[in-house]
Amino acid sequence: MASTPIVVPSGKSVSYQPLVPGDKEGSCYLCGAYGTGTAKKKVIKATFTDQSWAKSPTSDMVCDYCTWALSYKFDTRLYSFYGTESSLEALSRQRIREVLLQGPSAAPYIMIIAVSGQKWLHFKAQVGMSLSDWVLMFEERKMRFRPQEFSTLLEPVERLYQTFTKDEIASGEYQSHKMIAHGIDKWEADEELVSPHRGSRLLELVLFVAQKGETG
Ligand SMILES: [Zn+2]
Repeated sequence: MASTPIVVPSGKSVSYQPLVPGDKEGSCYLCGAYGTGTAKKKVIKATFTDQSWAKSPTSDMVCDYCTWALSYKFDTRLYSFYGTESSLEALSRQRIREVLLQGPSAAPYIMIIAVSGQKWLHFKAQVGMSLSDWVLMFEERKMRFRPQEFSTLLEPVERLYQTFTKDEIASGEYQSHKMIAHGIDKWEADEELVSPHRGSRLLELVLFVAQKGETG
């Protein structure tokens, strides 16, 4: 079994060790999937702070996949990931934007957007089964929305982001001299599209990936 290299956001190609099948069989304490695994006490320390996320809390084993991911603590917490049955990609912020705009390419899939880079997300995520919805983890929050909703909000946000800061767009507290520089009519038209989403997770996600210079 050879491991498949994954290109990480720095551009580096990283090879990972293949899965090592464990000697136990059952439901995974963490993700709940049935299969082979390793004794929980060998994989998870008592200090592990995410016990409340366990999908099979009475199980005493952790599956081969979760054991593998936990062994790459740095990478699997730091990076955002998009995975399908045939591929796994570590995503830069720009690449998250592209993938979200395109919509899921195949189901089932898993999409994890790491914000702090310090939290375990893989076993908290839900597998997306439909191409008409995005189901993803944005840090520890589960989100579900249609790809169209994302692109419809991204467009006005990126137009505003040419002039305003992400904080101004998130709060709705714009500096007046910038409103004049941007053009009051243009600002008003886009603010009208953004304001119903203020305070929402979707706007937070859109702002997380919004880029300058993407719109005219
Ligand atoms: Zn598992």
